[in-house]
Amino acid sequence: MTTTDLPTRTTAPGRRGSDDGARLPEHVDVLVVGAGISGIDAAHHLTTRFPERSFVVLDALPERGGTWWTHRYPGVRSDSDLFTFGYSFKPWRGPSIATADEILAYLDEVVEESGLGPRIHHQHRVTAASWSTEERRWTVEVTREDTGEQLRLTAGFLWMCQGYYDHRRAHTPEWPGLDRFRGRVVHPQHWPDDLDTTGKEVVVIGSGATAATVVPALAQSAAHVTMLQRSPTFFIARPKTHELAVTLRALDVPEDWTHEILRRAHIAEGDELQRMSFETPDELRTFLLEEMRPLLPEGFDVEKHFSPTYRPWQQRLAVLPDGDLFAALREGSASVVTDTIETFTETGIRLASGEELAADVVVTATGFDLSVFGDVAFTVDGEPVVFPERVTYRGIMITGVPNMAYVFGYFRHSWTLRADLVSAFVCRLFEHMAERGATVVVPTLRPEDADMPLLPWADPDNFNAGYVMRSQHLLFKRGDREPWTHLKEYVEERDSLPAADLDDGLVYS
Ligand SMILES: Cc1cc2nc3c(=O)[nH]c(=O)nc-3n(C[C@H](O)[C@H](O)[C@H](O)COP(=O)(O)OP(=O)(O)OC[C@H]3O[C@@H](n4cnc5c(N)ncnc54)[C@H](O)[C@@H]3O)c2cc1C
Repeated sequence: MTTTDLPTRTTAPGRRGSDDGARLPEHVDVLVVGAGISGIDAAHHLTTRFPERSFVVLDALPERGGTWWTHRYPGVRSDSDLFTFGYSFKPWRGPSIATADEILAYLDEVVEESGLGPRIHHQHRVTAASWSTEERRWTVEVTREDTGEQLRLTAGFLWMCQGYYDHRRAHTPEWPGLDRFRGRVVHPQHWPDDLDTTGKEVVVIGSGATAATVVPALAQSAAHVTMLQRSPTFFIARPKTHELAVTLRALDVPEDWTHEILRRAHIAEGDELQRMSFETPDELRTFLLEEMRPLLPEGFDVEKHFSPTYRPWQQRLAVLPDGDLFAALREGSASVVTDTIETFTETGIRLASGEELAADVVVTATGFDLSVFGDVAFTVDGEPVVFPERVTYRGIMITGVPNMAYVFGYFRHSWTLRADLVSAFVCRLFEHMAERGATVVVPTLRPEDADMPLLPWADPDNFNAGYVMRSQHLLFKRGDREPWTHLKEYVEERDSLPAADLDDGLVYS
């Protein structure tokens, strides 16, 4: 019997860059939860804009980086360009698409340059947060992942940068016959250090960005890799290095200019694709299919394998750097099968069509399970916060939850573009509170919102990725008017968030 491998990760010596041994302070002005892209962004903003305020960053993992530490599968890389997935304040010097190691090295530089190391405490999982109106602060329960020790601290403000999925458990559907399969089954989220697929028959189940990354990477040395998908995804081949980057670097343009120019170029290209996805989706579908057709082997059934039933960008559009997946398909080291699994057998997978796929290794690139606020149990004055009964304030705060902000990035642009906007918003909020002499801020529906319809977190017509649809019932709601909406596009929020009226829908004391 084979089950999905669990993480076997060890901490690389000398890469922690933070003060795991230090005791937590009893109280901080701000507690940042998470030391991934978003938490490091928040900490950078805090340290530069409010050097006098005390803060710590707590993360359950042994090292910084979140997603980029957890995921170690072969070929792991960004899908977005790093000029927008990197920070506005720190020029990216590499090619547009970066490996996980390159992203971690970039984050290390930010931690080092901003002096954040001593602020970050790893292996500290936040389990509960209780707000007391009387004390005007949060009391936060923390479990040390390495020792099991229970710790407690208080915080004036909680900045939740916990990402959107459970780092401990990956999403793996139940398949008939899995227990009789004699090969190995692994999930990309928990890639085992000892797995060698050289010369092996590999089946990758899934069609998203992870499958599209792992298939060409494994195809370099495996006997053959089959991408087995139930339904297709839209792919777009993009040069790993933007052509403008070649020109700018040849002209010896300063790195911060190059960064800004390439950032704008990538944003403009992303905006155009988004605009087309809403205004002329059929045209965009045709464009995407016609772009990939010449890159695929003769006779490849593009409509069957790469033309999804959904509108382009209704789920993430997966980028293929230099068209690497298409190259593997052309070379014959990889193939695509669109079918459903009937059962696992001792030696592979039998499909609904009757076809059998032989496999030594099966990779389940089947996605994530959403984690709502890092599974932290929130209470306000002793009452548990039931998030599905609450409403978002601009996708940054939650009604009735005082002094708490959260980061959720874009689906259709780089996550970090929004993390940066949220950081700037929270800093502006802190300044506004100081000007008003307030220490508490609570998003509160206004009298005119009394009959406002409460809508599900995501409108499936806008975005319907599996992990979102599976978890809608756990998530907070949105309203039908400002400031109770979220999941907007960058093109709108880059102007609206910096200009948002901080006295509308927020109650201060
Ligand atoms: C393989 C992969 C590739 C991706 N590529 C892209 C891309 O190219 N572009 C893009 O825009 N997005 C991409 N994403 C989405 C990606 O998750 C985000 O863009 C980004 O890395 C999220 O950063 P984050 O810091 O918000 O969250 P995460 O990276 O998830 O980090 C959250 C951190 O919070 C910690 N944490 C959570 N709960 C707790 C708790 N209760 N107590 C203490 N610590 C806690 C976690 O341990 C983790 O370290 C990708 C996702 C995956 C999985």
